Amino acid sequence: MTDPKVYLLDGGTLVIDESDVHWHINAGNPVRFPVYSVLIEHSDALILYDTGFDLDHVNRVLPFELPEQTAEQTIPAQLAKIGYAPEDVDIVVNSHFHFDHVGGNRFLTEATTLVHKEELRHAKVPEPFERLGYSDLSFDHETVTYKPISGDYEVVPGVWLFETPGHTIGHYSLLVELQNEKSMLFCGDAAYTRTTLEKEWIAGFHLDPTKSVEAIRRLNYLARTKNADVYPSHELEPFSTWKLAPEYYGGN
Ligand SMILES: [Zn+2]
Repeated sequence: MTDPKVYLLDGGTLVIDESDVHWHINAGNPVRFPVYSVLIEHSDALILYDTGFDLDHVNRVLPFELPEQTAEQTIPAQLAKIGYAPEDVDIVVNSHFHFDHVGGNRFLTEATTLVHKEELRHAKVPEPFERLGYSDLSFDHETVTYKPISGDYEVVPGVWLFETPGHTIGHYSLLVELQNEKSMLFCGDAAYTRTTLEKEWIAGFHLDPTKSVEAIRRLNYLARTKNADVYPSHELEPFSTWKLAPEYYGGN
């Protein structure tokens, strides 16, 4: 059977302090990092995992993150590179509802939005320290179709969501099983960087530090047992070495 094609969509970059990337590490050192989405062209559905940030929203609400996003780095433009329009996407999955993972949802008007039921509830009533993280609720428009889920979940055959809470209450990481090359494990914000995975250094942003550590251990376990390459969410290098759309992984 042919493997699905997996495209990485470049969504631009943001800046945060290194102590937000790794809790208590190197405070005062600004770090620029990439934001990306994952498009899976599967025989059963066209699936998009995360949708990046909305430039206007960040400029308005979080300008200190110094957003850089060209017109080519928006979701519609990235999809167009592969020959798709936003309406072609069948299923949107957001790892979680932080602003830099949901900014393009509003374009995906024909899709069903898969979301952990706890994340959906929590985004609307976050803890005070989570307010900026959950500041972009543009995904919650009148016509959105939610499918609230919980537990580990197989979206279509070979495309899995694994619960990795801690960073947020209902965080999901994504495993795309490939038969003819290494499978791909997208960490979402359960692991911003390779160092997160190696040293079990959780992000400065988190709801629950203990669960965050457990999520990192789960990702390392999954990478090992599923023979998968890991893709952290926010680290310029290795991002700069990955194939970006219109190039793809899988498809063989
Ligand atoms: Zn986040």
